[in-house]
Amino acid sequence: MSDLNEATGVTDAATPALYLIDCSPLLAEPPGASFQVPEFTLTSTLEGELMQATVEARVDRTNRGVRLIAQVRGVQEGACARCLSPAHADLETHIDEEVLEERHAQGDVERLGRGNSIDLGRIAVESLDLVRRLVLHCDPLCPERCEHCGAPHLTQECPEREVDPRLAVLGSLLPSSGEERGIKD
Ligand SMILES: [Zn+2]
Ligand SMILES: [Zn+2]
Repeated sequence: MSDLNEATGVTDAATPALYLIDCSPLLAEPPGASFQVPEFTLTSTLEGELMQATVEARVDRTNRGVRLIAQVRGVQEGACARCLSPAHADLETHIDEEVLEERHAQGDVERLGRGNSIDLGRIAVESLDLVRRLVLHCDPLCPERCEHCGAPHLTQECPEREVDPRLAVLGSLLPSSGEERGIKD
């Protein structure tokens, strides 16, 4: 086992690479050879939220390219949907996919990029995107917010709540004790 160096090249895509690894040394070895990628952490932005990814990966030589096996831990940072305070969620996912040499690749499969590189950073962030929370909340959960005034109390307990006029009419129709039932005024 030896370490893969972080490649310094640029991917084919217009977006800058997040963390490139150069698989050339591994491709020069027979199938079954394996490289350990040094653990790394990167930060990316997904739909306005920060995503921090920590990646532990191994790359195995296969007949058609390489097999990428990685454990990805992430921290999603954004705002609580209820109170807008900073909130975060811990995420975890696993990657196990073959990345093919161009001459073995057909259709929509993951392929080795220019210079036999793989953007492991991009693959890791995409895998976290699949397990990302759609709605973030405080942990522990913050109090429910009032629909009337936005303060941290239940809507029905709001001191500023106006009595619904329909309910007020009903209230006036209710007979109270000691009062004669009948038409008032
Ligand atoms: Zn909150
Ligand atoms: Zn209120």
